[in-house]
Amino acid sequence: MAFYSNDVIEEVKSANDIVDVVSKYVNLRRRGNTFVGLCPFHHEKTASFSVSSDKQIFHCFGCGVGGSVINFIMKIENIGFQEAIEYLAETAGISLPATSNFDLEMSKDELVKLEANKKEMYEINKAAGRFFYDNIEKSAVAKAYIAERKIDVKTVAKYGLRLFS
Ligand SMILES: [Zn+2]
Repeated sequence: MAFYSNDVIEEVKSANDIVDVVSKYVNLRRRGNTFVGLCPFHHEKTASFSVSSDKQIFHCFGCGVGGSVINFIMKIENIGFQEAIEYLAETAGISLPATSNFDLEMSKDELVKLEANKKEMYEINKAAGRFFYDNIEKSAVAKAYIAERKIDVKTVAKYGLRLFS
C-alpha cells in the first residue's frame, strides 16, 4: 500500500478546484458561492446536488453524499482513497513522491494512517452535511427543494440532527 503525507494530500486538493472537477461530470449552475446540479449518484429531476466553492466541499440533499474533491473522485470513479490522490495529482500535473510499495504486509504505522484517513473522510462528510444543512435557511435552492419534496421543516430538523449530531 502506498500512502501520502497530509502535505501531499493538501497540495493535491488545492490544485484541484472542486467546482472544476465536478463540472467535468455534472452540469453545474452558479448560485452565489454555491453551484448546483443534478446529483450523479442518484436519479433525480430537480437539482439537489450542491458544491461550495468557498468550502471546497459537495453535498447532495437527496441522497446525503458529500465530502471533499477526493471523496467525489473516489465515488464517481469508484476508486480508493490512494488512487483518488494519484488520479487528481495526474490531472493537475503534480508528481507525487515515490512511496514504498515494497512491503506486502501493512506496517502498524500504515494501518494507523489508514484508519486516520477513514476517520478524516467521515469527518469531512459530516462537516459537509452540517455546512449545507446550516445553510438551508440561507439557500433558496435547498428551501425550494425541501418545499418541492413537501418535507416538513420539523422533519428536516430531525433528519439533520440525526445525521449530523
Ligand atoms: Zn444524490
